Amino acid sequence: MRLILLGPPGSGKGTQAQRLVQQHGIVQLSTGDMLRAAVAAQTPIGLKAKDIMAAGGLVPDEVVVGIIADRIEQPDAANGFILDGFPRTVPQAEALDALLKQKQMNLDAVIELRVNEGVLLERVERRAAEMRARGEAVRADDTPEVLTKRLASYRDQTEPLIHYYSDHRMLATVDGMMSIEQVTAEIGRILAAVGKSGGSRAAKKASPAKRSAKAPAKAAKKAAKKAPKAAAPTKKAGKAAKKPAKAVKKAPKKASKAAVKTAKGTRKTSAKAAKKRATR
Ligand code: AMP
Repeated sequence: MRLILLGPPGSGKGTQAQRLVQQHGIVQLSTGDMLRAAVAAQTPIGLKAKDIMAAGGLVPDEVVVGIIADRIEQPDAANGFILDGFPRTVPQAEALDALLKQKQMNLDAVIELRVNEGVLLERVERRAAEMRARGEAVRADDTPEVLTKRLASYRDQTEPLIHYYSDHRMLATVDGMMSIEQVTAEIGRILAAVGKSGGSRAAKKASPAKRSAKAPAKAAKKAAKKAPKAAAPTKKAGKAAKKPAKAVKKAPKKASKAAVKTAKGTRKTSAKAAKKRATR
């Protein structure tokens, strides 16, 4: 399962992400945590990010995209991941799309935690007080002044992502003002629905070959039916023929073979049709 949690600072993304990690055995990839670790270790990225973070600004897109590109390749992310705090801008979302496409991965859902901004300040102040009480170091950017800036950058740069993923029919919105338990339950319902409907819209919109992971023989048959109309293999059928191994990765072996066979048949049938037309 691959998810994005969207929401302003203090909306509860981190808390919900941790619960999802427990429930689904996937990893939480928080760019904020990774950047804080880089700052603490004084790596070149950390040195670059330190002042920007302390001021409540956003670290350059290419830096965080680079971090995520490396991270999702790690073996512990193979089972799935929750992106927490990434993407934060439309260019980051576009870069993520390209990255996932290149790695032949799909997103299952984008979940927005919608909260009342007035409450956020209170929440972040409470979080800082609780950390202090536990003797933990309080984040440098968990102050009312910096939070105001972080909220402004969320509004200006991250909120457009709500429209981006809504346009891509990936977005599910949860009322983040509910209790932690209720939010968890609601996220659970969304994920169950995503699972039942066979994954995200991205998965549904995938090429015929990709869809054939579910019903390989059926999809290939459909492609074969369409093919004789074309003089050359259709772009889609061509794709199906090129990508069978990836597409049918999860399908039963027998069915996979059938899909490959039919896709090959599609090519032959198309060639025959073309020849026939030429001789007419
Ligand atoms: P967070 O812990 O998610 O609130 O992130 C803390 C800070 O890290 C943010 O205020 C930004 O300065 C920086 N940061 C985290 N993720 C990103 C991102 N995806 N793009 C740019 N800056 C980020």
